[in-house]
Amino acid sequence: MFIEDILDYEGTVIRPPSEADSLILQVTLGCTDNSCIFCPAYKEKKYKVKDFALIERDIKRAAKAMPDTRRIFLADGDAIAMEQQEFIKILDLLNENFPKLSRIAVYGSIKSLENKTVTDLKEFKNKKLGVIYLGFETGDAEVYKMIIKYGTPQVNIATCLKVKESGIKTNVTVILGLGGKKYTTQHAVNTAKILSIARPDQIAALTLMIAPGTPLLSMQKRKEFEELNNFEFLEELKTLIENMEDFKCLFFSNHASNYYPINARFPKDKPQIVAELAEILKSKDKKHLRPDFSRGL
Ligand code: SF4
Repeated sequence: MFIEDILDYEGTVIRPPSEADSLILQVTLGCTDNSCIFCPAYKEKKYKVKDFALIERDIKRAAKAMPDTRRIFLADGDAIAMEQQEFIKILDLLNENFPKLSRIAVYGSIKSLENKTVTDLKEFKNKKLGVIYLGFETGDAEVYKMIIKYGTPQVNIATCLKVKESGIKTNVTVILGLGGKKYTTQHAVNTAKILSIARPDQIAALTLMIAPGTPLLSMQKRKEFEELNNFEFLEELKTLIENMEDFKCLFFSNHASNYYPINARFPKDKPQIVAELAEILKSKDKKHLRPDFSRGL
């Protein structure tokens, strides 16, 4: 029996790479923003909180099938956007039904977190919400405007600092190549700057893959956006890392979209990673890179 056979999963369910071993419970559909020009994620779904009776049924079924579950990820793209008391009710149910539960994680949009206070977030933390995944995407104001995402890089910093203040860990995503050839340097340098201020616990660098049906693909077809090639993506990654101040965090580029996997502890591993990237960029040997056919979103 597979867990997906007994739980209600609507449409494609996405989770961060580091939640591969977590139980995925879908409590909401879609994302509250849904405007980002590069994102194919939830285009077929309108944001909604699933019916509470259905959520409760899934929690009880999952608890019966997997009673030793320690980690749970609440999907879809913005489960935390629901009303405070609704979310608390779900956390309570999870705590009641999974005796070995150690950590709950969730994606949090900047839009929904804007309405949460540190006290609200501490309430979640006390009920085992341990990680919030935040999509910074870029630290460059021009690129941020171009991707039509809610907020600004400055709002993202404030949001990350607020979540950290509550004691919940932050995992921030940035996207290599999001500024195309035109903005590559400023995208890398300014992203390094905001990461150095926000200082999240974990950073995940994804590599842009232009998806069918997205406005970014139309821009590319109109020659308004020029995509980086594999070594240019790597150059951008190197510039990003070199420009980051030294602070303690885990740095990953192990998502399937990336050309070069990194799983590092910064600042300790930073010189070694920069040296590795410099070496590959010097040799331009493709054997070090994940081939395009095995990349994926
Ligand atoms: S990138 Fe995140 S916030 Fe933007 S549309 Fe996609 S899921 Fe929503």
